[in-house]
Amino acid sequence: MDLTIVGCSGSFPGPDSAASCYLVEAEGFRLLLDLGNGALGPLQRYAGLDQLDAVCLSHAHADHCLDMCSYDVFRTYHPAGQLGPIPVYGPAGMVARLDRASGGESAESMGTRFGFAELAPGTIEIGPFTVAVDHMSHPVETFGFRLSHSGRTVAYSADTGLSDALVGLAAGADVFLCEASFPEIGGLPPDLHLTARQAGQHAARAGAGELILTHLVPWNSKDQLIEQAGAEYDGPISLAEPGRVVRLGG
Ligand SMILES: [Zn+2]
Ligand SMILES: [Zn+2]
Repeated sequence: MDLTIVGCSGSFPGPDSAASCYLVEAEGFRLLLDLGNGALGPLQRYAGLDQLDAVCLSHAHADHCLDMCSYDVFRTYHPAGQLGPIPVYGPAGMVARLDRASGGESAESMGTRFGFAELAPGTIEIGPFTVAVDHMSHPVETFGFRLSHSGRTVAYSADTGLSDALVGLAAGADVFLCEASFPEIGGLPPDLHLTARQAGQHAARAGAGELILTHLVPWNSKDQLIEQAGAEYDGPISLAEPGRVVRLGG
């Protein structure tokens, strides 16, 4: 299983990174985790846009799903003819959300061109992956993910505040992609995002093998994030970076 970080900028695209998008590949199957704004461009460095097999959208915030509108244009008006539907997993209401962003009521629903499926807490099979999902703590319905293949596991927090469910998804994961939207400051709202220290706490509780801090918000300094997460977690910690490929197993 290979994980490619396509975009890891938190909340909005930054000068050096698109918003959230991760490509997970195994046995030739290409699964996208989120397709945030700005991600469709750099995604083409790592995969043909007509070579994707499934998309999982964690939630309906623009920085996690908005480039689905542009991806729909690519598939609909492809020179070889409209490409057939691929499955898109997400929370309830995702089709209506994307339709509004795409063109409003005058346009035909994107649901006719993609195979939308609503996520619910539990485990599903997507291609060669076993995918466990659970609700995160965020203002809109949001799912975190645990992808397993051939005994190796990647966990992804999406956006969340403090979450026991996230500890469950990340339990024993080889790689834990965890959001760290805030540096250590006081007065942060609950059930929104994690600080780097809290990401470290979740990684430690989960016994994750490696922590990659992501959803890095451009207006924050990145310098202190690893130090703050490292105060809580003993394992390897790094910052997500576009173009980074993490190879798990053969
Ligand atoms: Zn976000
Ligand atoms: Zn969000």
